[in-house]
Amino acid sequence: MRPWAGAGSGGVESRLRLRTRALPAGCVALLVVVAADATRAQQPPLHADQGSPQGPSQAQVGPAPAQTIHRFWDRTNGLWFAAVGASRGLDYASTMNLRRRGINEVFLTNSLVDNHPLFAGIEAAATGASIGVSYLFHRTGHHRLERWTSIVHFGVATAGAARNYALKTPHPGP
Ligand SMILES: [Zn+2]
Repeated sequence: MRPWAGAGSGGVESRLRLRTRALPAGCVALLVVVAADATRAQQPPLHADQGSPQGPSQAQVGPAPAQTIHRFWDRTNGLWFAAVGASRGLDYASTMNLRRRGINEVFLTNSLVDNHPLFAGIEAAATGASIGVSYLFHRTGHHRLERWTSIVHFGVATAGAARNYALKTPHPGP
């Protein structure tokens, strides 16, 4: 039997909720992944050098790496960032829903999520942080991880929202 979140004590439910909210920690984990990835990537450093008069000898000028660098705000990122924002909106709505049903918010505390502008700001900040991590990946040439940041964030937030809606409403005893 699992304890009702409304009973006030922690438990598995609370820990899962914590996980859903602790997305910045997930982003940090992704950064750790990229650090490991960077050691294998062996990516040549970017040159701003465009052939100055006393520039490098011809021998040093090799073929440019075949790399298709996209704009950060391309269509794909635009769509994924919108999806991440929407999933955070869904998390907001699902949290409002569980609070109306008398279930306690554990990770962020009831008083915080009941402050609707503040909670909405936190959701927006989570979206912004996600875009920031994507940008770091983009700038460091890890374009696949850049996309995956949004994909994972979207998936986790959406699953968390679905779970919030699935939580059963506690019924007062007779
Ligand atoms: Zn990129």
